[in-house]
Amino acid sequence: MVAKGDMLYAWAKDADILKKGECGGAVTALLKHALESKAVDAVLAVKKGQDVYDAVPAFITDPAEIASTAGSLHCGTLLLPKILKKYLDGVKDMKVAVTCKGCDVMAFYELAKRNQINLDNVVMIGVNCGGSVSPVAARKMISEKFGVDPNLVHKEEIDKGQFIIEYEGGHKGIKIDELEDEGYGRRSNCRRCKMKIPRGADIACGNWGVMGDKAGKATFIEVCSEKGANLVSAAQSGGAIETATPDPKGIEIRGKVEKAMLKLGDEWREKDFTALGTGKDRLKTIMNESSKCIKCFSCIDNCPICYCVECSTKKPWFITPGQVPPGFMFHLIRFAHISDSCINCGQCEELCAMDIRNALFMHAQQVEIEKMFGHVPGKDMTPPIHALAEEKAERARLDATGTDSIYQNIFSE
Ligand code: FAD
Ligand code: SF4
Ligand code: SF4
Ligand code: SF4
Ligand code: SF4
Repeated sequence: MVAKGDMLYAWAKDADILKKGECGGAVTALLKHALESKAVDAVLAVKKGQDVYDAVPAFITDPAEIASTAGSLHCGTLLLPKILKKYLDGVKDMKVAVTCKGCDVMAFYELAKRNQINLDNVVMIGVNCGGSVSPVAARKMISEKFGVDPNLVHKEEIDKGQFIIEYEGGHKGIKIDELEDEGYGRRSNCRRCKMKIPRGADIACGNWGVMGDKAGKATFIEVCSEKGANLVSAAQSGGAIETATPDPKGIEIRGKVEKAMLKLGDEWREKDFTALGTGKDRLKTIMNESSKCIKCFSCIDNCPICYCVECSTKKPWFITPGQVPPGFMFHLIRFAHISDSCINCGQCEELCAMDIRNALFMHAQQVEIEKMFGHVPGKDMTPPIHALAEEKAERARLDATGTDSIYQNIFSE
C-alpha cells in the first residue's frame, strides 16, 4: 500500500504507453487506470495539436484515447482549471483527473476557495515544472538562435538545463541560461515561478531524481495526499504501473535541483522587480505600457481569479464604453481585485493582444502585499478577504437591499 508522503519510481506496464510517455508513461497509465476503474468520469490533459508549438486541452472520457496525451509539451503554456470552471460548471457533478503544472494547481486553489470549483471532485496529477516557453517566442528562438526552421521540429525537450530540439536532419541543444541571457527561453513569469514541485497536487511527478538504468524511463512520484495514495495504490494493484524504491542519491539530487531552481526564481524576481523601479517611477512605467491596451478583455477572460458574472470593467460609470485605450482605471480595477491573489501564471501576459507585461505588473504587487499581510496565494485553501463573499449571493443582496456597501456580511461578522 502506498501512503501520503511516500516517494517512488513508477512506469507504465503497457508497452505502448511506456514508449509514448515522456519518462516511462506513469502519468498516462494512472490517468487511464483512473478512468477505466471509474474512479473518475473524465480526464483533462494536454495533447499535441498541429505541431509541437500547439498544445491543446484534451477532455477525455474514453480510456482508449488517453495514450494520445502522453508526452510533455514545453510550449504548452495553457492553464486548465478555468476550462473546468467555464465549461463544466466547476465540476460540481462529475469527477475529473487533471494533469497539472504548478500554476494549474495554484489556480485550482484560487478557484476552489471562491466556490468556483469543487476540489472534492478533482484529482490533481501534478507534474514538476522548470518552465514553459511561449510558442511564438519558441519559433523565434529556434529560427534565430538554433538556426533551424521551426516548422521542421518534431520534438522538443528540456533536459539537464538544456532546451533540446529534434528536427528533420538532426538534433541540437542549447543551455537555457545562455538562451535566457540573450532574451530567449522560458516565459518571464516562469523564470520567477517558485512552484517547481507541486506538492499541493495529489501526487507530484517528474524526472528529477530518477537515476541509474531508470533514468529517462521512469517518473519520480511524491505522494502528497490520501487521494493521491489511493490513486497510485489502485493503479499498482490493478497492474497499470510498476514501481520501485527510489535511489537515496536520487532523492538527494532532486532536493538539490529544487533548491537551485527556487534560488534562480528569487534571482529573477529581484532582477525583474528592480528593473520595474519603485514608487512613482514604477507607476509611470505601468501607466505608460498599459496605454497600449485595446480593451480586448483577454487578460480578464483568461485570469483564473477573474470569474465575476458582472465585471466592474464593463460598468460605464467606471470605464467609458467605446474608448480605446481605456483609462487607467481599467487596469486599476484589476490590480485592486486580483493583486492579493495573483499566482503569477502568466496568462494575462501570454494572451495579451498588445504584449503588455501584465503578469509582471500584477506579480510585483502581489509580492508586496504578501510582505504586508502574509497571504500566500495558490498554496492551500486559505482565503483572502474578498473570497469570503459568494459573487452571486453578494450581487443578489446588493440588489435586494439597494446598499452600496459590499462585503457587509463579512465585516459585520
Ligand atoms: P506522460 O505519461 O508522458 O504524461 C505526461 C502528461 O503531461 C500528460 O497527461 C500530458 O497531457 C501532460 N502535459 C503535457 N504537456 C503539458 C503542459 N504543458 N501542461 C500540462 N500538462 C501537460 N519534471 C521535472 O522533474 N523537472 C522539470 O523541470 C520538468 N519540467 C516540465 C515542464 C513541463 C511544461 C511539463 C509539461 C512537464 C515537466 N516535467 C518536469 C515533468 C516531466 O516532463 C514528465 O511529465 C513527468 O516526469 C511524467 O512523465 P510520464 O512519462 O509519467 O508522463
Ligand atoms: Fe511551470 Fe511555474 Fe511556468 Fe506554470 S508558471 S508553466 S508551473 S514554471
Ligand atoms: Fe495569472 Fe495574470 Fe491572473 Fe496573475 S493576474 S493570476 S498572472 S492571469
Ligand atoms: Fe476580474 Fe474584477 Fe472583473 Fe471580477 S470584477 S472579473 S475580479 S476585473
Ligand atoms: Fe488590454 Fe492586454 Fe488586457 Fe487586452 S489583454 S484588455 S490589450 S491589457
